[in-house]
Amino acid sequence: MAAPWEDVLRNKAAVEEAARVAVDAALLQGVLMRTEGEPNASDVVNYAPFTLLPSAVPSALFQQAYAVQQDFNLLVDAISQNKEFLERTLASTIKVDDFTARLFRIYMQVLEEGLAQSVFLGINRSDYMFDCGVDGTPSLKQIEINTIAASFGGLTSRTAAVHGQVLKVLGRSEEASRLLPNNPSKGLALGIAKAWELYGSRSAVVMFLVEEVQRNIFDQRCVENELWNRNIRVMRKRFRDVFEKGSLDDAKRLYMDGQEVAVVYYREGYVPKNYDQQNWEARLLLERSRAVKCPDIATQLAGTKKVQQELSQPGTLERLLPGRTEAVARMRATFAGLYSLDVGEEGDKIAAMAIADPDRFVLKPQREGGGNNLYDEELRQVLEKIKDSPERTSYILMDKIKPQPAMNYLLRAHSPLQVSECISELGIFGVYVRQGKEMVMNEAAGHLLRTKAIEHADGGVAAGVAVLDTPYLV
Ligand code: ADP
Ligand code: MG
Repeated sequence: MAAPWEDVLRNKAAVEEAARVAVDAALLQGVLMRTEGEPNASDVVNYAPFTLLPSAVPSALFQQAYAVQQDFNLLVDAISQNKEFLERTLASTIKVDDFTARLFRIYMQVLEEGLAQSVFLGINRSDYMFDCGVDGTPSLKQIEINTIAASFGGLTSRTAAVHGQVLKVLGRSEEASRLLPNNPSKGLALGIAKAWELYGSRSAVVMFLVEEVQRNIFDQRCVENELWNRNIRVMRKRFRDVFEKGSLDDAKRLYMDGQEVAVVYYREGYVPKNYDQQNWEARLLLERSRAVKCPDIATQLAGTKKVQQELSQPGTLERLLPGRTEAVARMRATFAGLYSLDVGEEGDKIAAMAIADPDRFVLKPQREGGGNNLYDEELRQVLEKIKDSPERTSYILMDKIKPQPAMNYLLRAHSPLQVSECISELGIFGVYVRQGKEMVMNEAAGHLLRTKAIEHADGGVAAGVAVLDTPYLV
């Protein structure tokens, strides 16, 4: 599945010229990030890291990932409405993982009060790698579904144009014309706009809930601008602002700065460090409101690693989506082996298996954002240490996916131009809107390809490991 320009990679002069064009094209197209030194100002910005060349992606697997996205949207939505399932699945986890436990407490409190929210908006991204079988045939394997703050739908809408120009500079205009258009930021905005419309107050605004450190603001601005273009007002606020200025009226309508909020779109709130006591209180206030939360707390819980592991158990998908045999088969075909480390004989066996053969597995805590998983020797050491304690139930174990590497250049500001052996991860954005019991929108909204050098086992673009890419279908 090599791309048809491996020869180019050896032509140093051509690569250097293409890299100069690529960087300027990225800046012109708006593939931008704020700098580490000045993360909250736009006076100095730089290009977001990206590959010099598009990476080859098997066409059949790309189609397969798109074809299963609406199924995953339905599944996430079904889980979010299934209290019994969430309670049972997360029972062992919340005993040992304080972050999941706190989210769960808010979930229970909101249910006990009675849900004020009646319109639901899901924006997720299902991520995959291409596992290389023993005979060399690649297969699509899901890494995870991100149900909160799935990012890079904006910037990735602009990378195909950059890569198209690079290919032209390298004399590959035929291949350039085959790069697919891709605009997740529009698809995401259409979902937000639909939810805003169904909320039913023309003067209400959409609130982006953003982090204190906002390096990736341009990615979010792409979605914001799509909303402004539709005459929908957007405000950007932090948990701190909500704590200080947010309020609910008698009908649990949410107000910020005197303005009613129709939709809260979280680009924050997915890791423990996003929360102090005030931020937890702000989160609770938002969840209690009738504003459309994207995601609501139940949908965030549906995206935990523990839920993912439970989904791989025989019969679970069938129980969650009765009668949807084909959807179940499509989803299951993308699952890698996932194993529970819950206390008991089965968990003991799994732990022993991983300790004996750590290279076959990835050990994952209930965390998001990259850089949390354990591999190889570290996996063995940690499991050795916790194998007889309940702490091990805060992790799940997963088969390690082993893709076929390909050569590429990773362009990063202030870094030397050098060729790397790389692997890629494909994400498909899903968007859905439900009003009461009725699904009114269910779409695949575009894709994201991220590529990293093989020496890094883990970590996304924001973590400084992976870079943005464009798929070239082969
Ligand atoms: P996070 O929520 O932190 O993004 P992920 O499950 O996506 O957690 O894992 C982070 C990264 O670790 C992925 O982007 C991928 O590079 C790597 N990774 C995760 N699971 C596997 C796996 N089963 N096999 C190989 N690499 C994996
Ligand atoms: Mg991930």
